[in-house]
Amino acid sequence: VNKEESQLDDIIQELSPLLWADANLRGQSIEMKFTEHLPSLHLNTKEMKQLILNLCRNGMEAMEEKGQLTIETREHLEGIELRITDTGPGIPASKRDKLFQPFFTTKTQGTGLGLALCLSIMERHNGKILVESEEGQGTTFIVLFHRPSSRN
Ligand code: ADP
Ligand code: MG
Repeated sequence: VNKEESQLDDIIQELSPLLWADANLRGQSIEMKFTEHLPSLHLNTKEMKQLILNLCRNGMEAMEEKGQLTIETREHLEGIELRITDTGPGIPASKRDKLFQPFFTTKTQGTGLGLALCLSIMERHNGKILVESEEGQGTTFIVLFHRPSSRN
């Protein structure tokens, strides 16, 4: 895929009106926590937007009214980490290893393709996608990007 030097925070900012419109309709809120001066990454902007939208929409769909979605960027040892956290019901351990399988859905109108797509996008970006979830507390999807220099 075509990748360009980009700033993850800029991509999130560009999606922000769309995310807020979704959240407002649902009576939910969004908190964005950016770390300033993060190194830039080699990203396919279109795919990144798709990934972020998918994860945020899943989070919102999992929450009731008054839920809060937190979108956070941070630096970590090997690169940069994007965390999308919801205050939804969490994901039972029995379902956690099925999430990324194509067509796995628990929604009546779901396609089950969102997370499978996110996984393949991160494979094309030499990154990872992980999930942490606590039943009754919420879920965090963690997206890891390796710093370009750490890939040499
Ligand atoms: P879809 O959204 O069409 O169901 P996805 O691949 O995006 O397909 O997600 C697959 C399934 O993973 C969902 O149906 C849901 O059961 C579970 N899931 C994904 N994100 C969350 C989340 N943030 N909280 C709880 N369950 C989730
Ligand atoms: Mg989905």
